[in-house]
Amino acid sequence: MNRVYNFSAGPSMLPLEVLQKAQAELLDYHGCGQSVMEMSHRSKEFDGIIKEAEALFRQILNVPEEYKVLFLQGGASTQFAAIPLNFMNGSGKADYVITGAWAKKAWQEAAKYGDARKAASSEDKMFSYIPKLGRADFTPDADYVYICMNNTIYGTKYPYIPDTGDIPLIADVSSCFLSEPLDVTKFAMIYGGAQKNVAPAGLVVAAIREDMLGNARDITPTMLNYKIQADADSLYNTPPCFTIYMCKLMLEWILENGGLQGIKARNEKKAKLLYDYLDRSELFKNPVNPEDRSMMNVTFVTGDKDLDALCVKEAAAEGLVNLKGHRSIGGLRASIYNAVPYEGVEKLVNFLETFETNHS
Ligand code: PMP
Repeated sequence: MNRVYNFSAGPSMLPLEVLQKAQAELLDYHGCGQSVMEMSHRSKEFDGIIKEAEALFRQILNVPEEYKVLFLQGGASTQFAAIPLNFMNGSGKADYVITGAWAKKAWQEAAKYGDARKAASSEDKMFSYIPKLGRADFTPDADYVYICMNNTIYGTKYPYIPDTGDIPLIADVSSCFLSEPLDVTKFAMIYGGAQKNVAPAGLVVAAIREDMLGNARDITPTMLNYKIQADADSLYNTPPCFTIYMCKLMLEWILENGGLQGIKARNEKKAKLLYDYLDRSELFKNPVNPEDRSMMNVTFVTGDKDLDALCVKEAAAEGLVNLKGHRSIGGLRASIYNAVPYEGVEKLVNFLETFETNHS
């Protein structure tokens, strides 16, 4: 077996132990004579899986009881529409902070349903920083404030949680999900696509404060109505059973690795190794405001497109794959999610050092 280090922004690496556990249980899940891929979502075995996944998620993220945990479909992008349909129902206004392409897409989608306002934007500097915001920056009667916590494409992350006062705060945490502790009580809703840190693709996990539910617009498609999903315990229709099972395995792995404190320590060590190298490199530059750097997505450029492309190509030949930056900005990006081991980042830094020596 020759596994590569995969630095993809998502879908991304899963821990080897998780894959091996899934392999061991693949044909006969806990003696029931069938695979999780085959079993009914109404079976007692699957009921155990989804309940355990929820319990682990609550335990690991410290999700208070007054929050519903939902397993949803349609990717994070579907929530861009579901969020205004469910929550833009008081004043019809909502504030969006535009810190990158995903926040912008969410804002554009919300604008179809109501008065979606741009509370702030960092587009003036190619999304290389996170605006500093306080209560005065938000529309007092907004139905919610929306942020994208970690900006996968640009490699930035909020170093703080904006104080929105009484306005419910909603965050897309797709690319920093379960990478470190997060105070869920500061949010009315957090949600994320699972395909980076939580599971393979096909699943969104959300925590929503219960008082937010029940006011969806009449036109809200049933599947996008969070109250209906909550009342059905995420089983309104057939969920992605196998992905939810993989999510359970990932959550068990997080617990075995010291919970979110342990995971954070691992992630900090990996990110430090890479950023320290970039800071001393004369060839590569990280274009992000230092205090807003993402611990998950590390972007860097040489300033020469051809050299960037050569670097991506030579890295792949060494088993360091998917280092190409997002097609919209180019350069390189190493996504070092939970499952990327320290050794993978070490190998990457060694490779970049050699590349630098060879090209200076
Ligand atoms: N939000 C963020 C922060 C993302 O990185 C992505 C995808 N990479 C999305 C939303 C869209 O996710 P999906 O493909 O699950 O719709």
